[in-house]
Amino acid sequence: MLLRVTDLVKTYPAPDGILPILQGINMTLEKGETLALTGESGSGKSTLLHLVGGLDQPDSGSVELEGQDIGGLDDAGRAAVRRDKVGVVFQQFNLIPSLSVAANIEFQARLSGRENAEWTQDLAARMGLSDQLSKYPEQLSGGQQQRVAIARTLAARPTLILADEPTGNLDEATADTVLELMLSLAAETEAAMLMVTHSERLAARMSRRMHLRSGRIA
Ligand code: ADP
Ligand code: MG
Repeated sequence: MLLRVTDLVKTYPAPDGILPILQGINMTLEKGETLALTGESGSGKSTLLHLVGGLDQPDSGSVELEGQDIGGLDDAGRAAVRRDKVGVVFQQFNLIPSLSVAANIEFQARLSGRENAEWTQDLAARMGLSDQLSKYPEQLSGGQQQRVAIARTLAARPTLILADEPTGNLDEATADTVLELMLSLAAETEAAMLMVTHSERLAARMSRRMHLRSGRIA
């Protein structure tokens, strides 16, 4: 089992008490599985992704990655897990403006010690970015920047890819192409993927789906 989430609970403080966000989530993900996460805005999808990626801590419950409870780790330990195992793609690109496209793509792989020039070039080519490598993020369209962000995540060969509406800023045809590419690259590297999407069409391409309603699996 790659990922096991058990009785995960998350609340936020609110002016009139506490706001329950996740109310006991249980889920598992096997190596190589792709899971589409759907749910209305505010249902807790992004919160769940943050907890699974060790970017935030739950009130109670556990997240185990390859048998390791990441809740038991300190900040440095969680950072190491993120660096070594988890790749995150958000809707905002978060590219580094002062680095070229090539350096942006290599950035995460370099941090995790998995830099591989051939793999980087291959990814860039398949993302349609070969002619953009020496440019800077501001010189690219939104869709191209999104593809750079995805390539940067995949370049580090994460075991688990967490994607929060990764194609939300792309037109339908480009979103399809990019997701197809993410799925085939995930399959090649045997990575599992948990992806938030509002698109029924994209959700249908993934091996499983899960729907959140008011902080619970519906
Ligand atoms: P989704 O991604 O499904 O749209 P989120 O996980 O972003 O939902 O948010 C779930 C709920 O938690 C929303 O009601 C949101 O307003 C609330 N929320 C998210 N982050 C915070 C925070 N840092 N403080 C207080 N409330 C938050
Ligand atoms: Mg969200």
